[in-house]
Amino acid sequence: MPKVTETTLEINLAALKHNFEFLKSKLQNNTLFLAVVKAFAYGSDAVVVAKCLQKLEVDYFAVAYINEGVALRKAGITTPILVLHPQVSNLNLAIEHCLEPSLYTLKILQAFERVAHQRNQKNYPVHIKFNTGLNRLGFEANELDLVVEELSKTSTLKVKSVFSHLAASEDLEEKAFTLGQINLYKSLSTSFIEKLGCPVIRHLCNTSGVLNYPEAHFDMVRCGIGLYGYGNTDKEAQNFQPIATLKSVISQIHLVTKGKSVGYNRGFISPEGSKIATIPIGHADGIGRHFGHGVGIVEIGSKKAPIVGNVCMDMIMVDVSDIECNEGDEVVFFGPEFSAETSAAAANTISYELITGISQRVKREVLDV
Ligand SMILES: *Cc1c(COP(=O)(O)O)cnc(C)c1O
Repeated sequence: MPKVTETTLEINLAALKHNFEFLKSKLQNNTLFLAVVKAFAYGSDAVVVAKCLQKLEVDYFAVAYINEGVALRKAGITTPILVLHPQVSNLNLAIEHCLEPSLYTLKILQAFERVAHQRNQKNYPVHIKFNTGLNRLGFEANELDLVVEELSKTSTLKVKSVFSHLAASEDLEEKAFTLGQINLYKSLSTSFIEKLGCPVIRHLCNTSGVLNYPEAHFDMVRCGIGLYGYGNTDKEAQNFQPIATLKSVISQIHLVTKGKSVGYNRGFISPEGSKIATIPIGHADGIGRHFGHGVGIVEIGSKKAPIVGNVCMDMIMVDVSDIECNEGDEVVFFGPEFSAETSAAAANTISYELITGISQRVKREVLDV
């Protein structure tokens, strides 16, 4: 791999293909695969990831918001796109770009029906979401008849799928709760489809659901984090390959004598003299202040260097007293050999937050081998 000369997020498409094939190997042959590419494909690059998966004939994409779907369409993505969390303010755009909304309240259902009707749509594909215990988005079980009635009144909309989302699919201590959600979803979706009287795709599982609840795959699964290379146990992590590697370089090295301080608010005082390397990445790039004071660790060569003092907006300083290194040397924050999950755990967070937080200022470089 070429050495970087500035802060760079490398995106490895071979790893993405591997993760996609691995997840597919967990499914029945006829189970559809929806790839979740919201939030810039979990902080990587949504267009690059979606183009690669479209080539691999993924069945569906999902994004959180309409604008994320518009960006994919403008980049030439033609695969169906489910919008998980559309807002009433720009439903027009969804129709203009053939984006399929998740309808989760009567208000959004009626608003979307109105907009689609105004635009003379017939059988516009929509997705109905039920709440089965996450208590975040979705119709309640007791709204089922109302939803069916509302949908029966119009030929503008056509229900393509009915779905729900698991609250704790990664946590086997919550297995009883999850099995309850699966059962509720099963009965709600069966009754919904019966009352609607036409075939509808059923889907419930995210990545952890796919791995932990093979009996609940239904007609389609929705995978995000697994595609990007993270499972939810150490054992599963071995089956995935992180697609993103965050790298930077040493800008400058300072020799700091005993008692001298480093960084804002004199966050670090050298106990007995230190060699300190400055790296051009900070909280504006997604390395939050909680990584300061030794919580965050970077790799230089194969040696580990802790962040000293406070994380600045554009820079961090790391202690390289025991590492032979030079200005211009490469620094790794996370990647296949140095998991974002481990770094995230040190800062009391999860891989999802660390990888989705890498800001748009960081250069993306695609490795396609
Ligand atoms: C984000 C999201 C997913 C993907 O979950 P992973 O744990 O990343 O696989 C699936 N479904 C819904 C509704 C989501 O919001």
